[in-house]
Amino acid sequence: MQQILIIGAGLIGAALAYRLAQAGAGVTVVEAQAQPAAQASGHSFGWINASYYLTPAHHRLRVAGIQAHHRLARDLGADLWDWQGCLWVEDAATLDQMAADLSHLAYDMQVLTQPQIAALAPALAHPPPRALYFAQEGAVDPAALTRALLAKAQAVGAKVLLNTPVLGLIQRGDTVCGVRIAGQEIAADQVIVAAGTGAAALLADVGLHLPMLHRPGVILATQTVPHRLAPILALNGQELRQDRQGRFWMPVAPHHQSDPAQTLPPDPQASVDAALAALNALFHGPPTLRAAKWAAAYRPVPGDGLPAIGPVAPGLWLAVLHSGVTLGPLVADVLTAEVLGAPAAPDLSPFRPARFWS
Ligand SMILES: Cc1cc2nc3c(=O)[nH]c(=O)nc-3n(C[C@H](O)[C@H](O)[C@H](O)COP(=O)(O)OP(=O)(O)OC[C@H]3O[C@@H](n4cnc5c(N)ncnc54)[C@H](O)[C@@H]3O)c2cc1C
Repeated sequence: MQQILIIGAGLIGAALAYRLAQAGAGVTVVEAQAQPAAQASGHSFGWINASYYLTPAHHRLRVAGIQAHHRLARDLGADLWDWQGCLWVEDAATLDQMAADLSHLAYDMQVLTQPQIAALAPALAHPPPRALYFAQEGAVDPAALTRALLAKAQAVGAKVLLNTPVLGLIQRGDTVCGVRIAGQEIAADQVIVAAGTGAAALLADVGLHLPMLHRPGVILATQTVPHRLAPILALNGQELRQDRQGRFWMPVAPHHQSDPAQTLPPDPQASVDAALAALNALFHGPPTLRAAKWAAAYRPVPGDGLPAIGPVAPGLWLAVLHSGVTLGPLVADVLTAEVLGAPAAPDLSPFRPARFWS
């Protein structure tokens, strides 16, 4: 039985652990923190989409990512996903360009008029004149999905070591054959780095430079309120959604991975307050929404913004990406096949880590 060691118990590591253990590999997940999903996966907006993309290949990957979520949902038999669709609002010129680009890519969408928007989201005080609607998009609580995947992985034999930072990779010649943890080495046939923003430090250990963007983000959740918004809203760059418990979620300061801000604003509380004011102003009635919690996290974004997925060196693999919620189940499917010896997946060629050092 192949022994696979996965560094990181975020959504990517958990999805890989489940698929690899399910396929019969011996799996050990090693996580620095005291609980799974302690970093990006526990502070994410959770939107599953292909309306945001950087290149046509990236768009196709994200479409496949949505399909992989449906496969995983059937397989897990868990009720964790909401496929409520997304309303995307922009100024007229941007909206027209986006509609043209997405229709060229044959992505399912509708251009909605103001009365149609008002019917879909009646609580909006000022429905915009037009919006794009992506009925196939949805959301999941990434921390809950991470925990569910790890529980399933453990049920088919995977081991999960929490509070266990990996201090370095062990190499014999060119081949990576395990990891160092405090006072101990763990041998493995293959090591997968699914360590999010911690990946670059691990690869530096084998002399490779993985460029990463610094992309902080604050995620805000409101108190639970009665349901007033069905679709996810992407509103002139501000994303928001109401979950099934009734909480609103929104990334603030910066709002999105494409925002180039490298640091958090000096007073994140002021940004949270401004975001709440904008959120309250969206709806009819008095401003009742308040922050129940907010937290800062770093988005794991490779240097060119695209995912970095695949082989790095003999015995060493990498899976570091933003939009890891959208792409996590797909990445787990394709990487599991490759790690266990299937031919390289052609769809991944633009996303191979080797683009950074070859
Ligand atoms: C504010 C915000 C909003 C987002 N919104 C969306 C969205 O709407 N849709 C979407 O698709 N994506 C979104 N993302 C991105 C998405 O959440 C991430 O791409 C995804 O969670 C990455 O998962 P991961 O498992 O790779 O990383 P992480 O969840 O960060 O997990 C990596 C794990 O590795 C561990 N680790 C690191 N180094 C070591 C080490 N040396 N030893 C042991 N363990 C180590 C860490 O402790 C961590 O638990 C968002 C992210 C943020 C921050």
